[in-house]
Amino acid sequence: MQLNDATPAAEAAETARDSASVPAASPQVWFDGRMVAIDSPQAPLTTHAMHYGSGVFEGIRAYATADGGAAVFRLPEHLERMRKGCELLGIDFDVDAAGEAVLQTLRANGHRDAYIRPLAWLGSGTIGLDVAPLSQHLMVATMATAVHLAGKAARLGVSGWRRNPASSLPPLKLCGGYVNSVLAKREAKQRGFDEALFVDGDGYAVECTGANVFMVKGGEITAVSHADALDGITRATLVELSGAQSRPVALEELKQADEVFVCGTAAEVAPIASLDGHEYGDNPVTRDFQQRYARIVRGQDPAFAHWLTRV
Ligand code: PMP
Repeated sequence: MQLNDATPAAEAAETARDSASVPAASPQVWFDGRMVAIDSPQAPLTTHAMHYGSGVFEGIRAYATADGGAAVFRLPEHLERMRKGCELLGIDFDVDAAGEAVLQTLRANGHRDAYIRPLAWLGSGTIGLDVAPLSQHLMVATMATAVHLAGKAARLGVSGWRRNPASSLPPLKLCGGYVNSVLAKREAKQRGFDEALFVDGDGYAVECTGANVFMVKGGEITAVSHADALDGITRATLVELSGAQSRPVALEELKQADEVFVCGTAAEVAPIASLDGHEYGDNPVTRDFQQRYARIVRGQDPAFAHWLTRV
């Protein structure tokens, strides 16, 4: 199961064969206004974003629909979040143009079930920290994803790392902020867990490295809220679907839950088997969410067609 936002290129290449669509002869990326072969663009080694993490990305998904087409799930919401990140870094970002670039890239690659990765970044002009003189760039890559089969429930471990506090780094998809997730993921794996749960200094759950957290107790569904957590689009989707209450949840309360699941664009709805070795039982509510979410993103529930952008 992939709880992270990043879909490794190797995995994408492997799963490309599973895609029902006919891929372009050579994979294409959208780069500063043009479709180009994926391995042709070059960035200078002095690229600012490479040194300082001064970029903003998104993780978006498209799904094959029953009519033989495809649709992007909640594209405007993803691009609006990206715009906010760009605004912070002083990167110009045109939501409509980026949306067109996403659709163009999916079409060029013949991708239907796909992970979509737009990235806006600061390039060349100075090695200093004043970003005003820097060139600005945008790319969109798409990677075929395997049709999702319910993965194994993940073993979650409480991270020894704290989440970036929102007062230092706003919870947006700023590239540099993800070093915090990389550290937590590395530590979790080294300790034999699949994924890390960030907990704050007061003992409240924050989020995972690339997913938000929900719990179910006595049939009541709660979306964990925290000021340092990304305002996840999947989380908002599930809250709207279920009327789940959104509130802070202490680690101890999470451990007492009947079910815990995490959610995100890449993770979708992913059950948690255990938290720091504490095992959860059967997870019927999580399974129900998984099924409803899968139907909605594939356009099988007309009530939510407004969340889909046709490719
Ligand atoms: N938290 C973090 C840190 C993430 O990277 C992600 C993935 N974007 C999420 C939560 C879930 O957000 P979304 O549902 O918008 O993908």
